Amino acid sequence: MDKKEAEELKKQLFHQKENGWKGKTEAQRQEIFNYAKGYIAFMNQSKTEREIVESSKKIADEHGFCDISQKQSLVPGDKVYWVNREKSMYLAVIGENSIEEGMNIIGAHADSPRLDLKPNPLYEDSEFAYLKTHYYGGIKKYQWTTIPLAIHGVIVKTTGEKITINIGENEEDPIFTITDLLPHLAQDQMKKKLADGIEGEDLNLLIGSIPFDAEVSEGVKFNILSILHEKYGITEKDLLSSELELVPAMKARSMGFDNSMVAAYGQDDKICVYTSLTALMKIEHPKTTAACIISDKEEVGSMGNTGMESHVFDTFISEILNKLGINRPNLLEKVFCNSKMLSADVDAGLDPIYSSVSEKNNAAHLGRGIGLNKYTGARGKSGASDANAEFVAHVRKIFEDNDIRYQISELGKVDVGGGGTIAYILANKGIDVIDCGVPVLSMHAPYEVTSKFDLYEAHRGYEAFWRTV
Ligand code: MN
Ligand code: MN
Repeated sequence: MDKKEAEELKKQLFHQKENGWKGKTEAQRQEIFNYAKGYIAFMNQSKTEREIVESSKKIADEHGFCDISQKQSLVPGDKVYWVNREKSMYLAVIGENSIEEGMNIIGAHADSPRLDLKPNPLYEDSEFAYLKTHYYGGIKKYQWTTIPLAIHGVIVKTTGEKITINIGENEEDPIFTITDLLPHLAQDQMKKKLADGIEGEDLNLLIGSIPFDAEVSEGVKFNILSILHEKYGITEKDLLSSELELVPAMKARSMGFDNSMVAAYGQDDKICVYTSLTALMKIEHPKTTAACIISDKEEVGSMGNTGMESHVFDTFISEILNKLGINRPNLLEKVFCNSKMLSADVDAGLDPIYSSVSEKNNAAHLGRGIGLNKYTGARGKSGASDANAEFVAHVRKIFEDNDIRYQISELGKVDVGGGGTIAYILANKGIDVIDCGVPVLSMHAPYEVTSKFDLYEAHRGYEAFWRTV
């Protein structure tokens, strides 16, 4: 065999892993950049699960979706959703084929790691006013000090009145921050393990320093409460029934001299929300019913009535079966057993600075397309949701037939760590599920990095999945 023939054969036999930007025309690059602009705008509108659900509902309304409660009955082509307590959402486009044959589901999560306020957050110390926090999800605590933070969320009064808070995002808004020790006096702190350098109980947000203009004790706290009372009509007690989240007051931005990446807070997992939602908006009259999940509480174990472990998604699908006029005992279970799903969640991208935690042949690379994880888990695949080879082949075929660039990887080296997603919850219902999302650098940090190429391929990949029978 001559060299040329050997090279041809090698190309045919090897699994080539190439940078997706290579060979893209200027027009193709522009299309990717334009799609990323929409994503960046979406991210700047929506940083918390409530805001994501609100933005997603708006997008769905603009594309002919309506609340399922508004429909007496359903027919193929109908587009419906159910918003669950403002924090999670399920959408569906009814297919031409019987739903009994199964659905194509894509599920992402809207919650991201952050700092939540404690129920009794406000206190004064040495003429500073602070809010105490309890972190949400897996964070490296030191990353959350000395960065600008914004407060997002709701305060609900006993009257039922709900006050929406969003402060720190507009240029004219104040921001807040958590202080850290100056290096000059940090010799003891600097000797601690990274995990212990900043204690959870020290993640206290600095919010004020002017005392109330009268001779009273706790004057700075008093002054803050008088400002809050004037602005929002609340007292300290109203904070008991609030959900206030501290998120980085930093804008999502295009990144790199070549503008190839996106830096933003909360890309885990809002990048999969955006790519799947915008793909669903293009689906008209699918053969197979297309369902989309935007779940909550993934970062803390998916528990609770807005998390994926709840039965609210099942109820939504039951409601569809009712309104199609076909429901009967055990039909829901059968629908699930015949369904297929992409668990749309981010994957750890290989970071060359920390390459020792990755095994290069089985790590996701930014710029190589949408990332599949056949299984997750840790230490001997413990707790893994492991996709069946038959289903992996099905997904591969969809991506290969539609020229979607994809890669299959593991989250880190064996025994180095691991993770999980909502995949197992749906797999336990009998659905064929595989994890399928976008690789990220600095995952769970206040500023996460993704590739615009992968963002775009995820969008295309999700659309192709929903279009497949
Ligand atoms: Mn995630
Ligand atoms: Mn996460």
